[in-house]
Amino acid sequence: MLFTSDTTDGLAAAATLVNTRRNGVDTLETVADLDALLRVVSMSGERLGTQAEVDAVREIRERLRALWSATDRAEAAGLVNAILAETTTTPYLTKHDELDWHLHMTEQDAPLAHRMGAEAAMGVLDLIRTDNLARLRTCAADDCDAVLVDLSRNSSKRYCDTGNCGNRANVAAYRARRRESGEC
Ligand SMILES: [Zn+2]
Ligand SMILES: [Zn+2]
Repeated sequence: MLFTSDTTDGLAAAATLVNTRRNGVDTLETVADLDALLRVVSMSGERLGTQAEVDAVREIRERLRALWSATDRAEAAGLVNAILAETTTTPYLTKHDELDWHLHMTEQDAPLAHRMGAEAAMGVLDLIRTDNLARLRTCAADDCDAVLVDLSRNSSKRYCDTGNCGNRANVAAYRARRRESGEC
């Protein structure tokens, strides 16, 4: 399954946003926090730089998190539709900066939380209609509740990109093997 960059970018941004609250630690509380997030997840368009804008993004973050815990496509579709209905989407093709033609879901002066919500919903929408919702996963590490999107060809991604969890698991498995073989 090959996804468009609009889809993969939207999904990656959604996961990054959701993971700003991970293992009980919230790193999206202030305007400065939002600035930092937007250096990772680039969003063109207007910024207000207000606390209200941060709060609106935090709210959409929790709506997106719910998509990762949706039990089936029907539930996820309902959540996506609700986000799309609230974000007054006006999809159009555009080409700007160094980016090739891609889809914008909202006008550039729409509230930031709407733009982030709509782009994320667009990505998830593609997973639902192609029956790939299972690619929204939670990190396989016991001590990590970060979310991830598995867009690998063989659907094999298990660990998040946030907490170095894949490496930690490899090291733990290596140590366990050494212990078993008595090498210590
Ligand atoms: Zn753009
Ligand atoms: Zn993790």
